[in-house]
Amino acid sequence: MAVATPTRIFLTCLRCKTGRYMVQIDGGTLIRCNGCEWPHSIGTQAPTGTASAPLAAGGTAITVASGGASFTGGMVLAYDTGLATEILTVTATGSATSIPVSAAAKSHLTGVTFGQLAVTLTLAGIHRVAAGHRQLRRSGRWQLRAGRVPAEGVSGVR
Ligand SMILES: [Zn+2]
Repeated sequence: MAVATPTRIFLTCLRCKTGRYMVQIDGGTLIRCNGCEWPHSIGTQAPTGTASAPLAAGGTAITVASGGASFTGGMVLAYDTGLATEILTVTATGSATSIPVSAAAKSHLTGVTFGQLAVTLTLAGIHRVAAGHRQLRRSGRWQLRAGRVPAEGVSGVR
């Protein structure tokens, strides 16, 4: 059975600093780490592009007017940065007007924007630590050198 909506993707969590499954929260650009449960946002970074044709569910090629060769094999894309965002992987370097990708799970209109995947922490200030404390990464977990460690392991209050 085909999965209509990608429910999770495997990415390096910016907070855990290790590979985690990210669960899509809103079907769009908001995802949550399965490890620390911190929300992240899906965005794009160069190279970016705009599709010049629809991409049907199951489709394996993005059509562009130009610039397709900027997208190289193995590059991970955030495609359709509106409400139907999904993650696609470039399967081989594109030609000027066509980019081969892993099969799309959703249907997309023409004119949608996309680009190489960029993931950012949705909430700012996560790495701020109360004065007098120093945050260390030790044995894969964030810890505080001095003072009491709050339940989440970080102190976001200044
Ligand atoms: Zn995490």
